[in-house]
Amino acid sequence: MLTVHAYAAPSATEPLAPTTIERRDVGPTEILIDIKFAGICHSDIHTARGEWGDAGWPIVVGHEIAGVVAEVGSDVSKHKVGDRVGVGCLVDSCRECDSCKQGLEQYCLNGNIGTYGGIGRDGKPTAGGYSTHIVVEEDFALRIPEGIELDEAAPLLCAGITLYSPLNHWDAGPGKKVAIIGLGGLGHMGVKIAHAMGAEVTVLSQSLKKQEDGLRLGADHYYATSDPATFEQLKGSFDLIVNTVSANLDLDAYMSLLRVDGTLVEVGAPEHPMSVKAFSLLPGRRSLAGSSIGGIPETQEMLDFCAEHGLGAEIEVISADKINEAWDRVVASDVRYRFVIDTATLG
Ligand SMILES: [Zn+2]
Ligand SMILES: [Zn+2]
Repeated sequence: MLTVHAYAAPSATEPLAPTTIERRDVGPTEILIDIKFAGICHSDIHTARGEWGDAGWPIVVGHEIAGVVAEVGSDVSKHKVGDRVGVGCLVDSCRECDSCKQGLEQYCLNGNIGTYGGIGRDGKPTAGGYSTHIVVEEDFALRIPEGIELDEAAPLLCAGITLYSPLNHWDAGPGKKVAIIGLGGLGHMGVKIAHAMGAEVTVLSQSLKKQEDGLRLGADHYYATSDPATFEQLKGSFDLIVNTVSANLDLDAYMSLLRVDGTLVEVGAPEHPMSVKAFSLLPGRRSLAGSSIGGIPETQEMLDFCAEHGLGAEIEVISADKINEAWDRVVASDVRYRFVIDTATLG
């Protein structure tokens, strides 16, 4: 057993505070990772503040982990000490169901194991990346190619794959018109990846405040959704729209922006149900879909793609004592575009 430094939420209402947690000994098929950086995802905040139910406090969150292999189990073949690796939202799954067999561990039919807030195979609650070390099954650790800095790689493990997967599945590429709703932690990765895939990219944002950023990150067009003229002008334009916004939107208005056979994909998780009229779907054979992170093979593919195209997240690296402040800024959408914790400052 290894006692390591971490930051934990003691309850739904208290700020995060330094603590120590135990990491189990490395099993035959497991590796110990020396975590270097951990991204701050909005899900961390929803979970720790009890907005998605009982989190099982105290809880250590974080599922955008980048680090270096420090120890390997006797049967490990995929990683060796010193390798640069990442861990995303999952640390295990049943590995036997139809989804797992297809490499779609995110849709495991028997319930996968979350990087935090889950129960590991050892029967203990899982604890995430706001810590200096983690022990994981080798199959659930991803190789981070040279060519992406570890700090810029961390957010790819959740934000990156959350956008890559739908863009990949719905064939964003040359000749396709793709719109990304919202230019935040998720949206900015969507713009970068869709542009690198060769699609014509449009950002649909509430205002034009971040227009300069959007165009610099790879968008071809940028529109304010607060302007009703935007919806008139863009009617029937897009093959694919990815909605990264977690607030309730007028889906009917956005569906009208799709071409025939176009698809609007939800990747954010609004708190309240959203309605959509049948007549927003029928004309144009339009689809409304959802997508959740990505499986292990696709996450590796995404990291390789990002390295090949020189893509990382736009980040602000912070020390541990700034985590609570950073969370407030994430809630206020005051970050361009992802906070990353330097885990050397945790202890
Ligand atoms: Zn996340
Ligand atoms: Zn499964």
